[in-house]
Amino acid sequence: MERIDTDVVIVGAGASGLTAATELVKAGRDVVVLEARDRVGGRLWTGDVDGAMLEIGGQWVSPDQDALIETLDELGLETYERYREGRNVYIAEDGERRLFEGEIFPVPARTEGEIVGLIEKLDQLVAEIDPEQPWAHPRAKELDEISFAEWLGTQTDDEEAKLNIGMFIAGAMLTKPTHAFSALQALLMAASAGSFSNLVDADFILDKRVVGGLQQVPLRLAERLGDAVKLGQPVRTIRWNPESPDAGVTVVSDGFEVHAKQVVLALAPILYDRISYEPPLPRLQHQMHQHVSMGFVIKVHAVYETPFWREQGLSGTAFSPYELSHEAYDNTNHGDTRGTLVGFVSDEAADEVFRLSAEERKQRILESLSHYYGEQAKHPVVYYESDWGSEEWTRGAYAASFDMGGLARYGADLRTPVGPIRFACSDMAGKGYQHVDGAIRMGRLVAAQALEALGA
Ligand code: FAD
Repeated sequence: MERIDTDVVIVGAGASGLTAATELVKAGRDVVVLEARDRVGGRLWTGDVDGAMLEIGGQWVSPDQDALIETLDELGLETYERYREGRNVYIAEDGERRLFEGEIFPVPARTEGEIVGLIEKLDQLVAEIDPEQPWAHPRAKELDEISFAEWLGTQTDDEEAKLNIGMFIAGAMLTKPTHAFSALQALLMAASAGSFSNLVDADFILDKRVVGGLQQVPLRLAERLGDAVKLGQPVRTIRWNPESPDAGVTVVSDGFEVHAKQVVLALAPILYDRISYEPPLPRLQHQMHQHVSMGFVIKVHAVYETPFWREQGLSGTAFSPYELSHEAYDNTNHGDTRGTLVGFVSDEAADEVFRLSAEERKQRILESLSHYYGEQAKHPVVYYESDWGSEEWTRGAYAASFDMGGLARYGADLRTPVGPIRFACSDMAGKGYQHVDGAIRMGRLVAAQALEALGA
């Protein structure tokens, strides 16, 4: 086992950990980044699948995500717009395929009125929520004790309106069913994007992509950090002495024993308990970390010889709360002559199809895409389903959120350091929550705090 002495050791080479490391190095500090996988990026991962470049993890950038946009500029990365010309598709409960433009789905007039009313109501509530401290809202506890499904039921009896509004936060964002998270959690999700209206506006929230893939952010950050980033190094043990916290901390991975003054855990909170702490983490952390869990979604890519839907005047944007793939988009890469669709299968629907054989699952998912785009969608030349639930060092997608009541009860404590141990991850961000922007914000924040603690 090799011994290294440094100022700060960072556990996890995702966007958050690499941002923290970069900021610390800029301030003249020594860092070591220990990453469990044999690659950097965590939930950012651009793969080559049968000759197709696919973004298996995070990819979209929205205009309000200034921390991410600043990082892209600093790294010299270019962006391009998601293809969106033409009409969108909505599939109704009876299977009817309806084409539309704009954000409001082509639903019966009463349902449309209810949807518009719900969006207004949610925008008002979201405006009262500070995404950095949703627990500080005067009605936080009450809103955290009611599931989003129940809350929607108190607002309208229109099932289609409830399903559609629920879908934006549940299937599309937290990737948990609406009965599994609270109204407060839903409000945080929307507040982190500026408003509920922003979340329902695909042209806003899924605005741009990065030429060559968003994983280039961690790849380029890691390249600059050079030898400080150690791959294939799952951290197993963190040791420190509460009697003399200034004595620092020892972080043990499979190949290194790193002695540092501070440690930053830059991983999803659901993975903290993979590490042994000596002494054990305090009671509050033991309890709190059990109330956070990962959502679950399958991101499906289907690549075709041409973007055939564009010839039909379709934008590729498609939604239906009644479909297995509740949303799908044109995900054609910049400058690519082939056409790529991306669809999402979320939470309970994802559980269901993962019980099938791979071939049956593929058929079911392509069948769903064909309802939006026609028969041709059933015959891709490349097909790929993400399987983040099987990834030992992530265990779900997109991100982690509190269970019912957890946000009001513990939210304020999630970022609180324990001795020399600090925490940073997109899953504890306010603005940019569960997004790369939030990961970068948390990386910057924790670096500033570590510098202060180091007496910089
Ligand atoms: P992570 O990326 O999870 O990084 C944590 C790192 O820690 C990992 O590399 C992990 O291997 C490592 N690690 C874990 N345990 C240990 C250990 N014991 N020792 C050492 N290393 C360890 N966001 C967007 O902004 N736009 C999108 O379009 C978008 N789409 C997404 C689609 C999918 C399918 C997924 C999965 C995510 C998506 N996200 C999106 C979310 C975004 O990717 C994440 O919020 C962000 O990348 C998280 O960064 P992070 O650094 O906080 O955590």
